[in-house]
Amino acid sequence: MDDELRKRGTSPIYRRVIVKVSGEALMGPDSFGIHQPTLERIAADLVAARALGVAIGVVVGGGNIFRGVKVSEQGIPRVTGDTMGMLATVMNALALETAIERAGAPARTMSALVMPGVCETYERPRALRHLEEGRLVLFAAGTGNPFFTTDTTAVLRAAEIGAGAVLKATDVDGVYSADPKKDNKAERYARLTHREALERGLKVMDATAFALAQENHMPIIVFSIHAKGAIEAVLQGQGRSTIVSS
Ligand code: UDP
Repeated sequence: MDDELRKRGTSPIYRRVIVKVSGEALMGPDSFGIHQPTLERIAADLVAARALGVAIGVVVGGGNIFRGVKVSEQGIPRVTGDTMGMLATVMNALALETAIERAGAPARTMSALVMPGVCETYERPRALRHLEEGRLVLFAAGTGNPFFTTDTTAVLRAAEIGAGAVLKATDVDGVYSADPKKDNKAERYARLTHREALERGLKVMDATAFALAQENHMPIIVFSIHAKGAIEAVLQGQGRSTIVSS
């Protein structure tokens, strides 16, 4: 890996990160499920980022398949809906694990819900060992509890494994003063503090996830997953993003 670093001539800013990949990111241009070329591109980006010498944990969402809160509006109890949502994240994690391994890097899915025969159960010491041994670790099934999100999981796992930041892959290239899709005067912030984001009412993550990040002084870097090589660029302090830190 040192050779790789020398070849590129740029050192990564962080040694260990959590990348949050939402379910929507895996959908690509489709309106449901997994878009294979998009899955493969994200996997290739993660593998390239790992080649910088960075230990990478990935928290995968499930919104492309299932969202607990949506089905609970239709009559399924929220707790059941959320369990189904967590199962959706496991499906996505297994798909991404396969794509990462095909792209040439070892990967391991660890689920917060116990699923023998499907994947390993999340245990912090084992996760740390996988990372130390150069494997990408995919954290599936969120926190394992209903009423939480995978954004909260991303911050939680980042704090647990001692990550330097959460890299939140989204549709847009950062945090804006207004919705850039609706307001052409919306400005992108390059840097914000957690407090400024709160005071300006900017939605970086859901409130629980954001509170956990603020309390643990965990930087959140918001960037667009659509740009090829975006994860690598963020890790090298390049590309377009918003850094939210204390
Ligand atoms: N979920 C949950 N507990 C968690 C994480 C996720 O119950 O700790 C459920 C919840 O129903 C959620 C779904 O899993 O709607 C998918 O996760 P999320 O909405 O965070 O996925 P994303 O928006 O990132 O695709």
